[in-house]
Amino acid sequence: LDQVAGGTPAAEKLTPAEIAAQEERHRARTIREQRESLPAFEYREEFLRVMEQNQVVVLVGETGSGKTTQIPQFLHEAGYTRRGRIGCTQPRRVAAMSVAKRVSEEMGTRLGQEVGYSIRFEDCTSDRTVIKYMTDGMLLREFMTEPDLKSYSVMIIDEAHERTLHTDILFGLVKDIARYRPDLKLVIMSATMDADKFSRFFDDALIFKMHGRRFPVDIYYTKSPEADYLDACVVTTLQIHLTQGRGDILVFLTGQEEIETVQENLQKRMKALGPKAPELIICPIYANLPSDMQNKIFEPTPAGSRKVVLATNIAETSITIDGIVFVIDPGFSKLNSYNPRTGMSSLLVTPCSRAMVNQRAGRAGRVGPGKCFRLYTRWSYEHELEENTVPEIQRTNLGNVVLLLKSLGIDDLVNFDFLDPPTPETLIRALEQVRASPVPSRHLHFPLAQLIVTICAMLSVNSSVFYAPKDRKSESENARLALTRPHGDHMTLLNVWNSWVETNYSVQWCFENFIQYRSMNHARDVRDQLLKLLERVEIKLVSNEEDDIAIRKAITAGFFYHAAQKNISGKDFRTSKSNQTVLIHPSSTLHKTPVEWVVYHELMLTSREFMRQVTEIDPTWLVEVAPHYYSGSDITGSETSGKGFHGEKRHKSSGSALR
Ligand code: ADP
Ligand code: MG
Repeated sequence: LDQVAGGTPAAEKLTPAEIAAQEERHRARTIREQRESLPAFEYREEFLRVMEQNQVVVLVGETGSGKTTQIPQFLHEAGYTRRGRIGCTQPRRVAAMSVAKRVSEEMGTRLGQEVGYSIRFEDCTSDRTVIKYMTDGMLLREFMTEPDLKSYSVMIIDEAHERTLHTDILFGLVKDIARYRPDLKLVIMSATMDADKFSRFFDDALIFKMHGRRFPVDIYYTKSPEADYLDACVVTTLQIHLTQGRGDILVFLTGQEEIETVQENLQKRMKALGPKAPELIICPIYANLPSDMQNKIFEPTPAGSRKVVLATNIAETSITIDGIVFVIDPGFSKLNSYNPRTGMSSLLVTPCSRAMVNQRAGRAGRVGPGKCFRLYTRWSYEHELEENTVPEIQRTNLGNVVLLLKSLGIDDLVNFDFLDPPTPETLIRALEQVRASPVPSRHLHFPLAQLIVTICAMLSVNSSVFYAPKDRKSESENARLALTRPHGDHMTLLNVWNSWVETNYSVQWCFENFIQYRSMNHARDVRDQLLKLLERVEIKLVSNEEDDIAIRKAITAGFFYHAAQKNISGKDFRTSKSNQTVLIHPSSTLHKTPVEWVVYHELMLTSREFMRQVTEIDPTWLVEVAPHYYSGSDITGSETSGKGFHGEKRHKSSGSALR
């Protein structure tokens, strides 16, 4: 190629096809060199030998050593795909997509052909696919249609150390299958050293360790705690950019909102610095980022500029970005936590464990000596951080897990082979909830099914339906008011859906009404999927005219255990039975409406305990739809019952829908 550029006589004779062929050879050579430089490469033969001799192997290797991208290729090259596919699970959809793309490039194939991925609502595979990356949730779904995983010759459970709920359940399932499918090979891959535990669980499976190259990382702490860690991230990034030598920066934040805030502030500050400051390329990466923008983070940084990657903990171990020399770590991540006593789920910004922050620091030492700036004190690191993160299964509402396992035909939860069993309290609570959930058929008015399915689909994207840009606050507020319906969020969501359908799924309409088009599309997918499921269980879908009370009663029938009544003070609410003090979330349409009784979709603990997605109800419905749970005395204390219940007066058709 250099010769071509230099215009030597030989080069002038090259046809475009020959130039393309040369470029391809060059590309293949670069990729081969990159692959061969990874630590995994040195272990290739030994690993393949071990795979021949063992059915289950626990593979431990530092992040970036080539586990996810190389191991499936080694197995493919060694012929394992002659008898079936190689599957490789990832906890995160972004990782599944990005790794599949990389591996298809390395193999010189088109994404979706030999190498593909499968994530919810997107199956990018074909009949020819031999290496399939997928989210752990998708593999769980596959168990429903293929309980013995017979199309696979190798199943790789990757990122085992993350201990996501889905991965934890997969452990139990694949262990069981491996017993009666001796031809199925299992690889459990982990970036950390807790391999002994995995090995013991898989009947003392062999542990294979790959040692990576790692350069020293200097750790810096703040002298006192940071009051505003987002601002501290911005300041530290700029300090590094303006004073330190070459190398890109990786900043760990907790979610999209934080990432956008930091991005905005960095852009402003860089602008203020003027054109003399070297270029700073800002690359966000989080789960919902469109995939074309995800690719940007892997592009090499041009000489003279610096890249700063603003990432969620996806960059901790799931994806590796080359060239990172500086890590900025505020020490937080967003974790879902569930309190079985109160039935409350909360997505909380939580301090990381020491294991996590050590992983984060390690990201600075891949290409050379690095630096990690921790935005907390050394004392805090030593005394306040937990050693390890609690596995998700021990901090989640298991109701959904119970339903999922039941759909796989597993009823005996107590004897399910969990790596770490959930606490008995959580299990019992989950079983109770599931037993309460299936609505007795006399309460389910089938003609409502389609409307309820729509509401469910909208609830699944609810938090991101409305869009309120800072600079157009009042306009977006007005648009939202115009779409609001009485009695709360469920009816409002239904109205948003119906209005959108009337416009024939218009992008323009979404744009004009400050509705997120992407969320609506997502809801459409969820809705289609739910409708298909209902078809399978042969529920006939007819919608009669929209009877507001009937719909709200149906919602009450499903969520009767999430009821709350206004306190005498009139300021806050008290949940029935569990007696929690809660508020209506400011995002709810009922936030400023005087209502006495509500059911809510979920509780969120942020600055206060909030009910999200709230619908106004008549408390007598509770006794009507859940007589096993509520009696008259539960609702007679109410100041409202019998009095002018707002809504009931206007809709006299009450009670006609449920028989
Ligand atoms: P591990 O799973 O052990 O953490 P990976 O197999 O994910 O390691 O990554 C190995 C190397 O492959 C990375 O260091 C990086 O150089 C390269 N790589 C991975 N994904 C991409 C990508 N999407 N684009 C470019 N390079 C990538
Ligand atoms: Mg990996």
